[in-house]
Formats: sequence, C-alpha cells, structure tokens
Amino acid sequence: MEPRLDSLWEKTAPDRPRWSPLAEAITADVVVIGGGFTGVSAAYHLAARGVSVVLLEARTIGFGGSGRNVGLVNAGLWTPPDQVEEKIGQKVGARLNATLAEGPSVVFGLIEKHQIHCEATRQGTLHCAHSAAGLRDLEARYAQQMARRAPVRLLDAAETARCTGSDAYHGALWDGRAGTIQPLAYVQGLAREAGQLGAQIFETSSALEVCQDGESWRIRTAQGEVRTAKLIQATNAYGRDGVDPNAIVPAHYFQLATVPLPEKIRQSILAGGEGCWDTALIMSSFRLDRAGRMIFGALGNLDGSGAAVHRAWAARKLVKLFPQLKGIPLESEWTGRIAMTSTYLPRIERRGGNGISIFGYSGRGIGPGTLLGRAAANWALQTGDLPLEITGAQPENLAALRGLYYEAGAALTHFTNGRF
Ligand SMILES: Cc1cc2nc3c(=O)[nH]c(=O)nc-3n(C[C@H](O)[C@H](O)[C@H](O)COP(=O)(O)OP(=O)(O)OC[C@H]3O[C@@H](n4cnc5c(N)ncnc54)[C@H](O)[C@@H]3O)c2cc1C
Repeated sequence: MEPRLDSLWEKTAPDRPRWSPLAEAITADVVVIGGGFTGVSAAYHLAARGVSVVLLEARTIGFGGSGRNVGLVNAGLWTPPDQVEEKIGQKVGARLNATLAEGPSVVFGLIEKHQIHCEATRQGTLHCAHSAAGLRDLEARYAQQMARRAPVRLLDAAETARCTGSDAYHGALWDGRAGTIQPLAYVQGLAREAGQLGAQIFETSSALEVCQDGESWRIRTAQGEVRTAKLIQATNAYGRDGVDPNAIVPAHYFQLATVPLPEKIRQSILAGGEGCWDTALIMSSFRLDRAGRMIFGALGNLDGSGAAVHRAWAARKLVKLFPQLKGIPLESEWTGRIAMTSTYLPRIERRGGNGISIFGYSGRGIGPGTLLGRAAANWALQTGDLPLEITGAQPENLAALRGLYYEAGAALTHFTNGRF
C-alpha cells in the first residue's frame, strides 16, 4: 500500500498552488519527472534561464520524501567527507564534497530571495553522541570538517545538555552552516516560483509510459502526452508506473509530533533553535517547529506490522530524553521512504540517449536534492558539469530483502531498548 501524505507538514504548510493534470499533447525542451526537491529545483533553474520545461508529478508537489522529512538542512552528505573521497576517488569526491557543502547556503538563499514561508531557522544543527563510541565518531567528523574550514564546534556533555535540554548525550557536533525548515512548504514554495518563471507544472500526472522515439522522448500520462529532447527523472524512492525503477534499498523513517508545548517547557528544550539527530545505528532525530511542537523521529515504518513497537518505544524514549514531556499529547504521525544505496552516496544514471535519473540521497536530500537539481538543469543546457559521473544502471542486490532487514533491525532495537 502506498503511504498517505498526512504529515504535520501538510497540516502546517501555507496555501499552496494547485496544479492541474496534463490534459493535452504538448512539447518542451526538457521534461522533469517527479516533484520533490530534485525535480522542482531542476524545473526552477531551467525556467529561470528561459527554457521551456514541463514537470510531471504523479500525486502532489512534495508527496515523496521531500514532504515527509525532518527538515534538517545539513551541509554535505551523511557519509563524512574523507569517506566520500575514499569511495569515489579524491578528485571527484573533493568536488562533490565542495559542491554539497554549499547546500544550506543555496537552500536558505532561495528561501530568502523568494521569501518562501517555510519556518526557515539557521541556528545550526547538533549531531548528538548517544554513546562513548558515538562521541569518537563525532571527533573524527569534527577533524575532517575543521580540515575543510567548516564552522563546526565539538560540544561536551554539559554544553550539549544546556543546548538540547536533555542530559542523555555524551557530546555533540554543532554545524553552523545548517538549520531547519518546514520541508513541504519549501518545496511547494519553490514550485510556485518555478511556475511564475514559466515552468509548466502538472500534478496528478503520473508518467505512465516513458519511451524514446528517435532523438526525442515521449511521455504519456492518463490524459495527455509530452514530447521532449531531454529527460530528468527525479523520483528517488517513490518511483511508480512508467519510470524505470531506481536501484535503491528502501528504508522507512517515521516521525511523531506533539501538540505545541506550553511556553515553560518549550523554553527548556532547544532554546537556541537547532535541529538534532544522533549517532545511533538505528538513528533518531528531534527538533521543534515554529509553533513549539516537538517532532521526534526514528528509523521504522508506522505503516507496517512493527508500528505498535515503534510507537511504544518512541513514547518511552521521548520521556527518557525529556522527562518534562510526560503526558504531552501527540497530534501527528507519518512515515517516509528513504532511498539508500550501498555506498550511501547519490547516483546519476543514464536513461536512454538523452536522459538522466538522480537518486539515492541515503537520507540527506534537502541540500543535495536542491543542488543536484540545479546541476541537472546545467546538464540539460550543457552549461556545466555534474558533480558526479553519469553511470549505467548499477543494480542493488536483494534490495527488497535488505529493506526488510532495516525494518526488522529497527523493530528489534525498539522492542528491546529501554525495557530491560
Ligand atoms: C522520513 C524522512 C526524513 C528525512 N529527513 C531528512 C532531513 O532532515 N534532511 C535531509 O536533507 N534529507 C532528509 N531526508 C531525505 C530527503 O527527504 C530526500 O532525499 C529527498 O526528499 C529526495 O527528494 P527527491 O526530489 O529526489 O525525491 P522525492 O521527494 O521522493 O520526490 C519524488 C517524486 O516523484 C514522484 N513520482 C514517482 N513516480 C512518478 C511518475 N511515474 N510520474 C510522475 N511523478 C512520479 C513522486 O510522487 C514524488 O513526489 C529524509 C527522508 C525521509 C523519507
């Protein structure tokens, strides 16, 4: 069953533009399939340069990971920069690291430029050490970021407790480039700007058939058709119908949001406005939204059979982290699908003669999606290099089984954690 988009973000996003389905036969210089950060950014940057671009979204803008995520706008990838260079080579890796380090500046720059109402807060993020081993990991990350002159600070346990309001952590790595947003409002706001610049955006317009016809692509939807020379597929973990499936391992991540916290409690948690996640293998995250709701998330699927285990663990964990939240009611819960790859790095794969698919952000997509969408626009216009090599299809072995393994690992950890 396809998960519904009934996130907190949907409740609190400002009025969004509604886009009609494609209901005729049209042509465009570039077609983008998928209306998340990647596809919307590609459409925005193409339209900004006067190129005729059509964006097809199967459901509504932000329906996929972009409308379900935590809203942590971090620099770079989840994989530390030295490891990125080890995995794909020093030269290409350094270029990718340098490009993606700009993620927060580009995202917050677009928000500022177009006055997108998305609760943007740039007070840094805190990567919190859940254990002594987690702190050693953060020390290594700190050294790598310092070598690249990033504005990071390593906090000890006492300072972490002062910032977060929880004494559960051994320390934290603060990154001053980063911040938080209301992610659905950001992607819908950027789509509005793309539309104003001339991008033709169609919702409820799934690409049912995508085929190459000589030099051009023909993409059929339920009521229309579009022909184009260049195709950008931006469906990440949510591909359906006629698009070639991306080789990813799906991992589910859920979030729960409380009602807005009473002022006194609110002041005791994340008073500086940072967003947080931890170093645990079965990771969790927490942040406040502008109204002061606590949003707590972790690996796991609330649309699956482990839902009760995940919910019960989250209730225990939240009060363990913040005893002052005991008895505060929850008002929303939702789940999203993360596109993992075996390298934990995004991929750009060739589609036919003149097409690419960008995917596999492995949990870090706000900055990277916005930047790779912009790079895809440059690729289509032949005005810039992509920060990653375009490859042929690289299958992920036993992807569905490995996805189940993530869920089983999360359920087992959540079942045992805090009980014994
Ligand atoms: C729960 C969760 C928490 C996360 N937290 C963070 C975070 O805090 N910070 C961060 O940086 N990243 C985070 N991420 C990762 C980030 O959200 C994703 O990497 C990012 O949203 C990917 O964007 P995208 O545009 O590539 O894909 P998506 O946003 O998934 O968009 C793909 C779109 O393609 C559409 N589509 C699919 N098939 C078709 C078709 N045939 N025709 C037309 N349209 C189609 C889908 O409906 C969907 O809207 C999180 C992800 C999840 C799931």
